[in-house]
Amino acid sequence: MSIAPTAELATAAVFARWIAPRPSLVVMQPDTFCNMDCAAYCYLPQRKRRNRMPVAVAQAVAASLTSLGPDEFGQRQIVEVCWHGGEPLAVGVEAMTELLAPFEPLRAAGLIHHSVQTNATLINDDWCDLFQHYSFSVGVSIDGPADLNARRTDRAGRPAHDRIMGGIGRLRQRGIEFSVIAVVGTDGIGRAEDLLDFLAGLGATQIGFNIEEFEGSNAGDQPRPAEARGFWTAAIAWSTAHPGVRIRELDRLGGYLGTIRAGERAVWEAHSFDPLPTIAFNGDVILLSPELAGIRDEHYGDFVAGNVLEQDLGSIVARAWQLPYVTEFIDGLAACRATCGFFDFCRGATAGNRYFENGTFASTETNYCRVSRQELVNALIDTTRKEEP
Ligand code: SF4
Repeated sequence: MSIAPTAELATAAVFARWIAPRPSLVVMQPDTFCNMDCAAYCYLPQRKRRNRMPVAVAQAVAASLTSLGPDEFGQRQIVEVCWHGGEPLAVGVEAMTELLAPFEPLRAAGLIHHSVQTNATLINDDWCDLFQHYSFSVGVSIDGPADLNARRTDRAGRPAHDRIMGGIGRLRQRGIEFSVIAVVGTDGIGRAEDLLDFLAGLGATQIGFNIEEFEGSNAGDQPRPAEARGFWTAAIAWSTAHPGVRIRELDRLGGYLGTIRAGERAVWEAHSFDPLPTIAFNGDVILLSPELAGIRDEHYGDFVAGNVLEQDLGSIVARAWQLPYVTEFIDGLAACRATCGFFDFCRGATAGNRYFENGTFASTETNYCRVSRQELVNALIDTTRKEEP
């Protein structure tokens, strides 16, 4: 790519203003395969294929994180290494142990922390041993009680609810804390209290809700903004009655309000967007959104910013401003700031949703941001107005 030096500087400077130079989260794809087949809404195009990550890729990522060094304030923030999929547990305990080994010096130095997002069906005592040995944060994907969780199915199309509950039971028996993430579709959007009662009853440390999105292979029906507003209003009321239960989205909104109230708006505004590198099984690095991994597009190509077997992660992120989808996304963030009344809280929602819904990263509003950001704020406004004397 040839580009005039002054233009290059300008673009790199704009990139640096919006995107953090160091990732705080690295998503690892140990395999593209998933043992389940939630065909009704899964976004992963390669979930039926076995593509195992070689240990050399894990070694290259660990070496990259080692070489990142401190930031401009001399600090080294802890990087979360999130094992995602496919279904990450489908690689087996032995292969996962081999992939974790290169990270051990970083973990021992307190520089990284492992997490995993799993469908829980494969959790057994061996996996519990591994989670405890490597101090994993465990996140379980479950959409609610059996009727709302019915779209999580195995390859024969049978609901996997009992197997998911079995995995959660094993975590509980072993005293391993876990959070849950529930996809809320059109069937669950009117049942916030049922969902929260059920998910809180599992004993999760935090409940997160992903209002169903239009993403990757998922082109089904999604809840509408008015329905989402009702959902969040009910969730806020439920949370008020159950103050000990953490709900991820309300935590984020509370964090924003707390920061503003403390007069620290500048701290909130200083947050830049995490480059969010996803390391595909073969070492390819996809930035901004894990949902872009494995996708090909006529205009954008394969979204690959580089490969960790050829370049270190820091260099790949530093040159990312040259990628059209990254610069378009920065344009989208700037447009959000210029036009959206919710930007102060939102700071610009995900790249994947802009692309999958609008076909461009430079766009602003999506159904995702309406249902997950805007209507969350509107629900809080509705609630506080109702409580005004
Ligand atoms: S709510 Fe949507 S349009 Fe507004 S800042 Fe967030 S992503 Fe942009």
